[in-house]
Amino acid sequence: MERTLSIVKPDGVSKNLIGEVIKRFEGRGLKVIGLKMIWMDKKEAEGFYEVHRGKPFFESLTQFMSSGPSVVMVLEGDGAISKTRELMGATDPQKAEQGTLRRQFASDIERNIVHGSDAPETAAFEIGYFFNALEMFSS
Ligand code: UDP
Ligand code: MG
Repeated sequence: MERTLSIVKPDGVSKNLIGEVIKRFEGRGLKVIGLKMIWMDKKEAEGFYEVHRGKPFFESLTQFMSSGPSVVMVLEGDGAISKTRELMGATDPQKAEQGTLRRQFASDIERNIVHGSDAPETAAFEIGYFFNALEMFSS
């Protein structure tokens, strides 16, 4: 059993895609074991994307991520990290495969509606960034 963190980003929330994203993940057999709506401030967005600090898109990305509410969730299941990434599609929606969330709904490489952890270590950091043990319900 693997866990991963996903976020419906502010653009996804504003496009009414919360249900669509969750439906895809659940449809792939993943279990939502933690879920909440949050509004990150700039510092919180910077902390979450610490690995990207210094990159040309960091400032714009963290402004975007703190521009409105997001839905953060913890997903559990076999291959949760790769399944989630597969359903999301490539970072750049124009390069994402047909039928993926980003290909279907993202407007550009920054506003790509959804986040998913990319490895077990990043998943552990990202889950701990938003959730404590009492906020996850694994059966
Ligand atoms: N991003 C961007 N410009 C880029 C690369 C990334 O605005 O050239 C944003 C985009 O929102 C992406 C996030 O930064 O989802 C994190 O980048 P990463 O490379 O980790 O992509 P992801 O793991 O989300 O596919
Ligand atoms: Mg990433």
